[in-house]
Amino acid sequence: MNTTSLHARHRAVLPDWLALYYAEPIELTHGEGRHVWDAEGRKYLDFFGGILTTMTAHALPEVTKAVAEQASRIIHSSTLYLDRPMVELAERVAQLSGIPDARVFFTTSGTEANDTALMLATAYRRSNQILAMRNSYHGRSFSAIGITGNKGWSPTSLSPLQTLYVHGGVRSRGPYAALSDAEFTDACVADLRDMLGQTRGDVAALIAEPVQGVGGFTSPPDGLYARFREVLREHGILWISDEVQTGWGRTGDHFWGWQAHDQAGPPDLLTFAKGIGNGMSIGGVVARADVMNCLDANSISTFGGSPVTMAAGLANLSYLLEHDLQGNARRVGGLLIERLRAIAAQVPAVRDVRGRGLMIGVELVRPGTDEASPEAATAVLESCREAGLLIGKGGGHNTSVLRIAPPLSLTVAEAEEGAAILEGALREAP
Ligand code: PMP
Repeated sequence: MNTTSLHARHRAVLPDWLALYYAEPIELTHGEGRHVWDAEGRKYLDFFGGILTTMTAHALPEVTKAVAEQASRIIHSSTLYLDRPMVELAERVAQLSGIPDARVFFTTSGTEANDTALMLATAYRRSNQILAMRNSYHGRSFSAIGITGNKGWSPTSLSPLQTLYVHGGVRSRGPYAALSDAEFTDACVADLRDMLGQTRGDVAALIAEPVQGVGGFTSPPDGLYARFREVLREHGILWISDEVQTGWGRTGDHFWGWQAHDQAGPPDLLTFAKGIGNGMSIGGVVARADVMNCLDANSISTFGGSPVTMAAGLANLSYLLEHDLQGNARRVGGLLIERLRAIAAQVPAVRDVRGRGLMIGVELVRPGTDEASPEAATAVLESCREAGLLIGKGGGHNTSVLRIAPPLSLTVAEAEEGAAILEGALREAP
């Protein structure tokens, strides 16, 4: 028997840059509902898996059954042969997207979805210039990482695309911090116009997360993207909404994050991934037909749209719509934000509690200062883990924002249980 710890074996054979949480990383062995267990039998309330993989609930019987049934019949490629579950999920996603006459292409990750969206937009516009937001994250392929604004996650400054970064994603520090929503919106629109004035007018697309995920759950003022859209339309520039974290009702008030900017109408392209397969790897791009069909060479994807992942997606989507998990995100997320704000009022280490639905960020600072405190975020993560709660962290280069994104079926009792653990950890934060 190999007695070396799994962590040591991981370190010996996997890349150093593959991020792991905790001084002693956890091996998860099973889950149920909003809970997961580790290899030592410890049980945790999962306040982060919702955004990573598990949109609805761990080991959701409806999804498990759909996967098992499909796997026991056939797992083939959706390339070259017709794939009924893929057509059915595409029909539902196209209809839900709000994009008229939409076409859907399935991938296996959010990265690949954004990569495809970028390829479509640049091919459609015959330009390799992209507008992206400061502090953004769009994935780890060469093009997706190249346009990502948060350079803490971007190991290379080489990129096949030329990127111009605009303001609007985050304003908590710097010259825009003191502005009202209306002033901030005007300033960002002016910044966008200024940026476009410095180009030759042939930018392909703006890609943006409606709420920045890895960047620390920051939302721009409602309507910002509607104002951006007016400017983009003047130049024929496409809008790609990266809904990898914000899609499917997570933000509570809206099914898609772009709907907080409703006057903008639907985006030209929308990308999705993460939890729609409740753990099975599904990503995808939805686009206007003329944009999707601008490619004129054949293409294939061996695993994109695989029947077994599509079966999971169909079962998961039906479950979340039938159980109104968007409404649950709004209600339970609203209570949780309120509760965390009440705690924050008594804990000087907390600078801000923000978010929408079940996508909540808690920003930490060094006591008595306005400096980001990554050490407090790490300490809170560790003490929550000790007390049986898993949370995430993120935010800019210094990861001082706690990220809370449980499965969308979170109950009020579980929200209270998690908030109580967080309260204890925050009160002890350095
Ligand atoms: N876009 C956003 C907004 C994301 O948060 C992520 C993942 N954190 C991605 C794209 C990339 O998705 P994946 O990890 O599935 O490639």
